Amino acid sequence: MKKSRSALVVGAGFAGSVCAERLAADGWSVDLIDQRSHVAGNAYDERDEGDILVHRYGPHIFHTNSEKVYQYLSNFTRWRDYEHRVLARHGGKNYPIPINRTTINSLYGWDLSERGIAEYLSSVAIANGNIENSEDFLFSTVGRDLADRFFRGYSKKQWGRDLRELAVGVAARVPFRTNTDSRYFTDTYQSMPAEGYAKMFEAMIDSPRITLSLNTAFESALVDSYTAVVYSGPIDEYFDCRFGKLPYRSIRFEHKHLQGVEEFQPSGTINYPDLEDGDYTRITEFKYLTGQKSNSTSIVYEYPSDVGSPYYPVPTAASSVLYGKYETLADQLENVHFVGRLAQYRYYNMDQVVAAALKTASSIINAN
Ligand code: UDP
Repeated sequence: MKKSRSALVVGAGFAGSVCAERLAADGWSVDLIDQRSHVAGNAYDERDEGDILVHRYGPHIFHTNSEKVYQYLSNFTRWRDYEHRVLARHGGKNYPIPINRTTINSLYGWDLSERGIAEYLSSVAIANGNIENSEDFLFSTVGRDLADRFFRGYSKKQWGRDLRELAVGVAARVPFRTNTDSRYFTDTYQSMPAEGYAKMFEAMIDSPRITLSLNTAFESALVDSYTAVVYSGPIDEYFDCRFGKLPYRSIRFEHKHLQGVEEFQPSGTINYPDLEDGDYTRITEFKYLTGQKSNSTSIVYEYPSDVGSPYYPVPTAASSVLYGKYETLADQLENVHFVGRLAQYRYYNMDQVVAAALKTASSIINAN
């Protein structure tokens, strides 16, 4: 018989809730705390004043190539298939994003075949044997004009930085295509939790071995009373920012319920790369994502900001060096495990957080 094992899990988003569930399933007794008044972290969804299911912290669209992650989450939800489509509003017209054959033909007034598009891209791609940032990456794939039109302004708004300052991986998240596929993602599994994210999280942590405390801040004095601690908050804060603050980007969300408007825009999300269109990066209309039917609709504008709760790590050369210092400290703590976007300072998608959390939980279980 194993000794009684206890865990403190800090944060009830994907990282924390998955670890809590796995540990509880293995017989641990788990205290799950979150400083917010709800579970599900930034994936939290709720019904607004018009009874439309909205994502309080902006659009969360689930996609994965991992059968393991998909099967794991399927224990807690049914799914509704959904393939996200995004348009970019540029110069008063809408174009598919990722950049594809339609984007290029309609932007320049051409009628190129797939092959013609591939030839055009290789003619404008700027060869570079040393791709160091998002600008280098875009110039070497889609060329300067497309990068400037669709990426420079959007990225400036999103990050408050130029493409040159952002790591390659930021712009490389978005593919480019020579065909007319207009899906934002091409993963094997693309679907949304049928009853929403909050319900999925409630099912995940519904265990007599998990004690959930909301509106509860983490205190470092608690750490020594547990066999293991899982921490999913900002890693710099765990160490009192002793090397300086890591940059995290926040977003101010402006939600609107439009009574009597059945459809606001022609796709789930419209991106606004033109600086003159406003400070928001994109507008998302939730009914596309959830499939909800209603004669009214709800949308959200995203205004990125340096102030507010941390949502995105900011992938730059300097932040990577600073994170490295905190990571070294974290690695020295045997019983504290750092997992998730804020704690691992990685631009993870939801499925990647789930995969990281499953791994962390297994290693905790194996070590105890
Ligand atoms: N991006 C852009 N224009 C677009 C879409 C994306 O410049 O139309 C850049 C921008 O820097 C953005 C990054 O690519 O932050 C990643 O885009 P993604 O849609 O993955 O952002 P997320 O949904 O994570 O906010």
